[in-house]
Amino acid sequence: MPNGNLKLAIQKSGRLTEKSLQLLRTCGLDVENYKDRLFVTVKNYNMDVLFLRDDDIPEYVKDGVADIGFVGENVVLEKQADVDIVKKLGYSRCKLRIGIPENENINDLRELEGKTIATSYPNILSNYLLDNEVKAKVIQISGSVEIAPSLGVADYICDLVSTGTTLKMNKLKTSFTILDSQAVLIKSKELEDNQEKMELFNNLITRIDSALNAKNSKYLMMNIPKEALSEIVEIIPSLKSPTVLNLADESMLAIQSVIPADKFWEINDDLHKAGATDILLLPIENIIL
Ligand code: ATP
Ligand code: ZN
Repeated sequence: MPNGNLKLAIQKSGRLTEKSLQLLRTCGLDVENYKDRLFVTVKNYNMDVLFLRDDDIPEYVKDGVADIGFVGENVVLEKQADVDIVKKLGYSRCKLRIGIPENENINDLRELEGKTIATSYPNILSNYLLDNEVKAKVIQISGSVEIAPSLGVADYICDLVSTGTTLKMNKLKTSFTILDSQAVLIKSKELEDNQEKMELFNNLITRIDSALNAKNSKYLMMNIPKEALSEIVEIIPSLKSPTVLNLADESMLAIQSVIPADKFWEINDDLHKAGATDILLLPIENIIL
């Protein structure tokens, strides 16, 4: 595909796939159905999307097979590929944690000293132990790490955890967090040498930023009694001054504002108390700052 298109690698099929495609679509990119294809060309942008195993993405980006990639930070750090981590993408969040037998307790990292820990992330774990000056034995297991303690292969494990259900089934519980991971955008170090691709890349970054800003924000609309204006403006946690509109009913005003999505339920009661009615909270597709 030496067509001058920016080449983006995403996971072929797994936990990252749908969210990655969704982000591209929110960026206005027309990515067609990818079933059983190695790559697709985006219809309205000079970009090819390559579908790969997530573990291969850092290496392919390093080698320039792909220019950029969306992949878990856990995978990038474990593979130690020489690529730039450009941006956190806010999805596929998970934690790499130490798991210990249910009937044990660890209060201090030092208690890992001399223990054997099974993991599929030997590089991340070893570096973590080294940074904290703890000497433990790390053994690498590629799948079903959580059965290692019951097999007597290891004392503890270090694995990705979101709910902890798998650990529980194996009579383990979570202890220290080694890494807070999420999907990240990575880029080949060679990309900067290609001016045309850098333009495509920078344009994509603008679109991604606007999509991420929008995801964390909501559009808030309401009607308020005129005399409550200053009180309500105080309550609304908007970055910019809210829009105030007159209504046919001269005793009322309409207020519109962009607010952080997670703040709404904190202010809802106060808005009601101050006399706000007909409160609407709407999703935002993009915010261009
Ligand atoms: P592939 O076939 O592409 O190698 P995989 O089985 O390695 O797939 P998935 O299980 O789809 O990968 O996970 C991909 C990424 O999703 C992980 O590397 C991690 O960054 C992220 N992730 C999010 N939540 C979890 C979770 N609960 N458990 C494991 N990974 C998670
Ligand atoms: Zn994988």
